[in-house]
Amino acid sequence: ESVVNRVAAGEVIHGPHSALKELIENSLDASATQISILCKDGGKKLLQITDNGIGIREEDLEIVCERHTTSKLEKFEDLEAMETFGFRGEALASMTYVADVTITTARSGGKCAWKASYRDGKMREGTKEMCAGVTGTTIAVENLFYNVKTRRNALKSGAEEYAKILDVVTRYASSRPDVAFSCRKVGETRATVNAPLVVLSSSGGGGSEGEREGDRENGEENEPSPSSSSQKCRLERIGQIYGPTVSKELLPLRLKTNNDKLEKKMAQFHMECDILYSNANYKAKKTTFILFINGRLVECSALKRAIETAYQSVLPSSSREKPFVFLSMKLPFKDVDVNVHPTKREVHFMHQEEIVERVQTALEKALVKSNA
Ligand code: ADP
Ligand code: MG
Repeated sequence: ESVVNRVAAGEVIHGPHSALKELIENSLDASATQISILCKDGGKKLLQITDNGIGIREEDLEIVCERHTTSKLEKFEDLEAMETFGFRGEALASMTYVADVTITTARSGGKCAWKASYRDGKMREGTKEMCAGVTGTTIAVENLFYNVKTRRNALKSGAEEYAKILDVVTRYASSRPDVAFSCRKVGETRATVNAPLVVLSSSGGGGSEGEREGDRENGEENEPSPSSSSQKCRLERIGQIYGPTVSKELLPLRLKTNNDKLEKKMAQFHMECDILYSNANYKAKKTTFILFINGRLVECSALKRAIETAYQSVLPSSSREKPFVFLSMKLPFKDVDVNVHPTKREVHFMHQEEIVERVQTALEKALVKSNA
């Protein structure tokens, strides 16, 4: 049985970076506004995440790492949403089958913090203890794949794994300017990513893909939207992460299907797309394409190709200069299919071809206009 579990866990957790993606999402789901990550040997020896979220109830500590344990049924109302984005209580459980997991957590108003260690889907007997701690949760994942030699050997060097970790952190940090992120290696005093907390004005709503008043009525379809406060914060954040040269060139573009323009094919299908695209190519070896669908970091190769095609036709890139595109899309949860496996990043969604085509056309038009 444990072999089966280990194999299954390997499908969910590919390496420190994919464990981190799950952990960051959990912290964000717990309403954290500060997330710090600590790594040893590229996260292979230690991957630790600390958040200031709501914490885990003491009585839940016993079961939190069991398969299918989730507290998110109510939050994400419909079951389809859960299935779509892997809200299935798989992530923590999977980690415990291939690593040593320790959780330290405290709820606000609680008397103290609690700490417990886990293996193979269970809390290890006698490990639960009281300790001091502020509200929030720290999860340490140690010795990843200690029991799966092939997986462990397939991991890259500490430096390479750390680069992948930083990539995940910077992507989430770009998407959520309302959350402070930091990431560092054990022994390093300065964090590699240390974007300070950017406070959103209250009218801007949460930094997630929430409602943004004011944008709703204006924002003609396929027209650059008046920069919303959250896009402004995002721009600022991207500047902090990727440098001012990138953010200076970024322009907003908003696309959506709206009710009054019911298109035959996409009737009842609501799509909203917030894009920040570089008006020029900037110094980089590869295209930077950051894609979030319904607040989750995903990949869509068809969309990426379309974006590269759009740039290629308007602003041919050289081997040393490439485009930068941040795209955040909102779709009905039920229409996103994370094919194959819930934590697989490559997604497919309803009306994909039409949407991809629209993004490409809109981007081409915008690039022509802004470069005129
Ligand atoms: P899921 O996210 O699909 O619910 P996970 O295995 O990722 O499943 O997490 C299991 C449960 O553990 C979550 O539903 C949540 O209740 C709790 N949890 C995990 N991480 C945190 C965290 N950082 N803060 C608060 N609760 C957490
Ligand atoms: Mg989760």
